[in-house]
Parts: sequence; structure tokens; C-alpha cells
Amino acid sequence: MPDFRQNPLTGQWVIIAPERDQRPQPARAALESLPNFDNACPFCPGNERETPPELFAYRFDHSQPDTPGWTVRCFPNKFPATKLDAKEVPTPDSIAFAPKNPTIVQLGKTDSKLCEHQPATGQHEVVVDSPAHDVPFAAQGDRQAALIIETLRHRSRMLIQARDVKYISIFKNHGRAAGATIDHPHFQILATAIVPPVANNMLLRQESFAKENGRAFFDVLLEEELELNRRVIAANDEFVALSPFAPQAPCEMWIVPREPVPFFGELGDEPVRLLATLLRDLLHRLQSRRGDPDYNLVIHSGPRTLRAQDHFRMFIQVFPRSTAPGGFELGSNTFINPIAPEDVPNLLRAASEP
Ligand SMILES: [Zn+2]
Repeated sequence: MPDFRQNPLTGQWVIIAPERDQRPQPARAALESLPNFDNACPFCPGNERETPPELFAYRFDHSQPDTPGWTVRCFPNKFPATKLDAKEVPTPDSIAFAPKNPTIVQLGKTDSKLCEHQPATGQHEVVVDSPAHDVPFAAQGDRQAALIIETLRHRSRMLIQARDVKYISIFKNHGRAAGATIDHPHFQILATAIVPPVANNMLLRQESFAKENGRAFFDVLLEEELELNRRVIAANDEFVALSPFAPQAPCEMWIVPREPVPFFGELGDEPVRLLATLLRDLLHRLQSRRGDPDYNLVIHSGPRTLRAQDHFRMFIQVFPRSTAPGGFELGSNTFINPIAPEDVPNLLRAASEP
């Protein structure tokens, strides 16, 4: 019997319908085997001139910026979704990139009561995981995985200081079904002057939960999940990885800090190291146990407008893309998920586990 479930963090409903997993799966294109280096790839070493000047890179060989020798490299997106003036980014290692002839959207008459708009102020950056064109995050070593997450944290700390930035979205699109247009593994950072409704909604719901229950939402969630132990996939001293009660996507995962950390940029060095290894392991399980599905990974961090007394906690969400949303999903914003979250820990059991 399908189960109608509400996500307590977002209020969104999903239908868990395991019977639907029996349906024929669309044939997946054969896994492309990528080369280790692609001369046509703007993210590969040697092609640094194909990207805007770098903002930050880990270089352990004293090589010059915008030359090979980096291990993780960050630069502005060549085709940004948002733009920030150079003077807004407050650090010496930041050079904001803005096209010489920006295209301004012409709206004509602007006194509409319905069509609210403002310039898309912000910064859009790319963080390339490693020089290797063919090594996904799931296959990185401990140290490289930690350097990647450290780079994301560093840029997040810089960007949150820019005057107009209210929110920083960090994400990874893995595979074409997840929206990736360049195969070379990378993260993206989008700093915006608006707080997205999703973040606002999560904040409001965590506030009202705390008011009603006298305890933080994620404290209760972790306590219940660890006690029940049906949806917990893995855990370490700092983080718990679980399949949420009402997941939108098959094998959706949340990685939640045990401590009430509101901003991703506030994570300390040891939590970053443990997060990097845990994330790499989870993605490796997804790749090896579920046939390497395309996925989106999102780091949810608190909006800059957060007050000290607010209860927002950062967390990470991984959405595998093994099913494409259909008309019912798009029309109702209610997702049908053929895999019950209680089955996910077993489906993603690491090869070394019993
Ligand atoms: Zn490449």
C-alpha cells in the first residue's frame, strides 16, 4: 500500500510507492568512459586561460595563478547567473569577474503589481574538484576530498562578507540528468542578494517547531532517527547520514551535523575533514551499489539575515536522479518515490559491511 508522507522540515508531501520500482526502468545510456585529460575541456590543467582569472587555488608546487600545478581551483563562472561588482568582494584573493558588455533584460513597462524583479546581484563561482577530468568526488582520496570541502568553506566565508550577499548556495550537478554541462567534476557557488523561499520556509518551520516543542528540530530528528535506527546510513563523531522520512528522490540522503551549526562556513577543520570523508563514502556507495546515478548535491546553509536566537541548522542533501519528474510531480509538487527510505541503509550498505 503506497504511503503518503509529509517532510517535517519543508511541509512537502511525497508518495512512497515501492510497487512502482517493479516498472521497467528506462534504459540508461552506457556509462561514458571519460579520458583523464580532455584538451577541449576548459577545466582541465593547461586550459586555465579558457576560464576567468582564478580567485583561489590550492597549489603545493609554487606554481603561478592560472597555470597548471593546482590541486583544487576556484574561478568565477564564465556565464554567471548572478553578478557582483568587484569592489563588493572584500579580500585580496578575490577578483570578481563581470562581462565587459553585460546584457540587460529589457522589461518595458515596469509598474506591474505582479512582476516583481531586481538585478540578479551576487557572485557565481566554480570550484574544480581536481586536475583529473575523469575522477568524480566519489573516487577522491581523503586528503583531496577535504581540500575540496575546505575550498568551498573558504569561498563561503569570503562571499558572506560582501555587502549585498544574503544567501550562499553551494551545489554539485553530477551527470547530464542533474543539469551538468561540463563533465569535469566540479562544484558551483551562487551568492545571491535574495534569500530563496526554500531556505526561508525551512527557517520558519524550524522556528515554529522550536517554539512548540522547546527543542530544536534537528536535535529531535537526530535523537529519533538514531534511536529508531531504520533510516541511518552512516555516522561519525560530527555527522549523521540518513535517508529522510519523506524523501523526494530514491536513495535521497541528508548529512546532518550533530552540533547546532547554522552556517556551512562556520564548520571547523576536524568537522570539514570528517564531512569530506563521509560524503565521499556515501557517494561511492551510491555509485557502486545503485549503478552510478546522476545526482544533485546541495549544501543548505543559513541565510545571512539569521539572528543569534534562530534555530536554523546547516545540512547537506543528495538527490539521486534515477527517476525524472513527470506531470503529476510538476503539477502538484508532490513526488512519487518508488524506494522506501527504510530500505535505503541496506541498499547502500558498504561492500565491507555484513
Ligand atoms: Zn577536464
